[in-house]
Amino acid sequence: QAHLDRIAAVDGDVHAFLHVNAAALETAAQVDADRAAGVALPELAGVPIAIKDVLCTLDMPSTSGSKILEGWVPPYDATVVARLRAARMIPLGKTNMDEFAMGSSTEHSAYGPTRNPWDLERIPGGSGGGSAAAVSAFEAPVALGSDTGGSIRQPAAVTGSVGVKPTYGGVSRYGAIALASSLDQVGPVSRTVLDAALVHDVIGGHDSRDATSIPDAWPSMAEAARRGARGDVLKGLRVGVVRELRGESGGFQAGVKQRFEETLDLLAGAGAEIVEVSAPNFEYAVAAYYLILPAEASSNLAKFDSVRFGLRVEVPGGTVEDVMAATREAGFGPEVKRRIILGTYALSAGYYDAYYGSAQKVRTLIQRDFAAAFEKADILVSPSAPTTAFRFGEKLADPLAMYLNDVTTIPANLAGVPGMGLPMGLAPEDGLPTGLQLMAPAREDARLYEAGAAIE
Ligand code: GLN
Repeated sequence: QAHLDRIAAVDGDVHAFLHVNAAALETAAQVDADRAAGVALPELAGVPIAIKDVLCTLDMPSTSGSKILEGWVPPYDATVVARLRAARMIPLGKTNMDEFAMGSSTEHSAYGPTRNPWDLERIPGGSGGGSAAAVSAFEAPVALGSDTGGSIRQPAAVTGSVGVKPTYGGVSRYGAIALASSLDQVGPVSRTVLDAALVHDVIGGHDSRDATSIPDAWPSMAEAARRGARGDVLKGLRVGVVRELRGESGGFQAGVKQRFEETLDLLAGAGAEIVEVSAPNFEYAVAAYYLILPAEASSNLAKFDSVRFGLRVEVPGGTVEDVMAATREAGFGPEVKRRIILGTYALSAGYYDAYYGSAQKVRTLIQRDFAAAFEKADILVSPSAPTTAFRFGEKLADPLAMYLNDVTTIPANLAGVPGMGLPMGLAPEDGLPTGLQLMAPAREDARLYEAGAAIE
């Protein structure tokens, strides 16, 4: 009730939610009744959670921020949603996002932008601005996001939240409306590292419905976070500073760089061994990503054909192709169209090797950079995002400027390694949150929770 009251009080301004769950109180009452009857309940039973609209939910519309799916209610729950329900958590509603998770500001949502609770004139990050704003505005204690190129970590950075992109294959993608299948991962957004870990433990682990799901057992992330908060795990930890993400090449805000350098001093003071590592191919990560992502997205979005899901624009006397064209013309926004065209072009015969093939080679080089860096360091650190929250409209007219905001987050997606964003203090020049990013080798998500809990 407290969270629903808070949503009623502030969401008119923040617009974090596209849909509030009308059954939330009733579901919560059942948990209370079971508790009163002495039923053994899971640790997070009764805890409300906001769910990014990219995730399929049986009882609530799932639009992925697009007009083409307006009002569509899926016939099944995403695995992560089913696991939340099995843990007796209470879905509070569906959160706003850039259309099909394409963007860094939530301005590409077909339903209007979400506002940053720290400053309503500024963006909350993207694509998962709704989930981060909901947590930051105390409308929800925790939320789920999805991160294909930074959509959990960058919104977390600019709203002062914690956000985790798990190892690729660590959390099921079944029922997550696909953007780029080789990059997408679902993960938690929260106010503390332990909260994120508790949610990670609920949603993570093998799912036979996702062909890329890792079959092995995982350690408890919550235990790792508790260990980190208790012990002096930073002592002797080899912390690798990625030279290419330190902000020397421009585009990084002064206050972000300042907080980052101060954080390194604090880590050194706590006994960590700071080593500089170089990842020379990170320079090409944004370029490779913005070929691979549109290529995969153009294929994934082909299913919105006016027949199987959502919107259908009738064309009297028209052919099936006319109906498809009219539906996609009306249903997709400009950024989605831009990426479908880019991806189709990059995959077309004659250009495939030059663009898509080259991008995949760069991806391999970036994976090798990570492997070399992790020989010298246990975790890698960088700012989560190069700037604090920017103003609405500032980057909207210039897609490239928007894409460059992902420079820090994209490498982890290309390599499939886990990344965590956590608050790093306010930038002195504008008083807005900055974020610290931690990255670990694939399958070493627990290392992030241990170090993250020690740092926060
Ligand atoms: N900003 C990135 C993009 O627009 C990230 C997207 C994401 O992680 N879903 O592609």
